[in-house]
Amino acid sequence: MLSVHLGLGVRAQDLIAQIFKARARIPLYRLATESCIILGHVRIGDLEAKPGTKMHGYIKIGEFPTGYLVQYPIMILNGAKRGRILCLIAGIHAMEYCGIETVMRLFTRIDPCKLSGAIVAVPLVNIPAFQARVPYVNPVDRVNGFGLGKGGVGEGSMSYIMGEVLFQKVLSKADALINLHGGDSVEENLDFVIVNETGETEIDRISKDMAKCFCSDYMWLYHADVTWIKDAGGNWIKTSENRKNGGLHKRTMIPTVIPEAGGSGKMQEGSVRFLYDGIVNVMKYLRMLSGKPAMSEPRVFHTQHRVKVRSSGFFLSSKSLGDIVSKGEMIGSVKNIFGEVIETVTSPVDGVFDFLMFHPSVLPGDVVMIIGELA
Ligand SMILES: [Zn+2]
Repeated sequence: MLSVHLGLGVRAQDLIAQIFKARARIPLYRLATESCIILGHVRIGDLEAKPGTKMHGYIKIGEFPTGYLVQYPIMILNGAKRGRILCLIAGIHAMEYCGIETVMRLFTRIDPCKLSGAIVAVPLVNIPAFQARVPYVNPVDRVNGFGLGKGGVGEGSMSYIMGEVLFQKVLSKADALINLHGGDSVEENLDFVIVNETGETEIDRISKDMAKCFCSDYMWLYHADVTWIKDAGGNWIKTSENRKNGGLHKRTMIPTVIPEAGGSGKMQEGSVRFLYDGIVNVMKYLRMLSGKPAMSEPRVFHTQHRVKVRSSGFFLSSKSLGDIVSKGEMIGSVKNIFGEVIETVTSPVDGVFDFLMFHPSVLPGDVVMIIGELA
């Protein structure tokens, strides 16, 4: 078990040493099906599920000197028959509630006796943010994304340690990953799916097929320029990146999709159904459940344009989510407190209005809308 006094020297160093030792054993591209299965039992941390059973518990991460314990809730649904290991994670952004609810619902409803392979799930990654109702970040250290795409705990704080434990103990055991997201508490969005391309043809083909299982109107194909190589000590290091937290997909090197569904700090039933049905379809596609998956051909965004305002003031969008907009078309405005328009916001491209940051109060440089440019 990995256990560490967060913020204290000696045991944290032990953890880092263990992590790097463990990482050296993980090849860049592999099928992990057998890696946490012994005689059909799926074991994650101290939790073990026999074939045809489901178990839930916790992976202990560590504790603060104040006694504040840090741990992940973990679910294992171990099928009666052999098959793939599908990993579900939700709540990296803890106010994106639809994903969290979807994982809880799947765990309670799916009968492991009808399952081939296993589901390993962390239904809530960012527990501190959930309890504090904080968007985007872990409120303890203000880190967004748990450094998951960065690798290692080099930046030291709680989120990086949590991210590394999640990678080593859970993500590295999986054959495929669904990383559930949505609009955060200040965002409304279309329900769609993101695929981060790895450059490996077979992985990307399966990721795109998994995305099609969500039957969304749109898919965003994102290509991050991130490469992992092994250094002389056998540790995986990143050689380049073009995005701060990008790169998890290239680190895991397993088929991965990121559904974006629900938003506004609410629990939209339609978005939960979108996620639930999509995951069940993915399980059929991976032959974990019987039946033919429903799949659709979504239109593809090749770029997402974040529209910023130059002024502070009162912002209102003049478009509705899902609207097709043209380059140069007015899509919103910023007013001063006397109601006079001080800035007209226009679309940078022809595309689809897919994300809105709906708080009218804006500051210069704030992103207020996102326009997906179609391929
Ligand atoms: Zn998110």
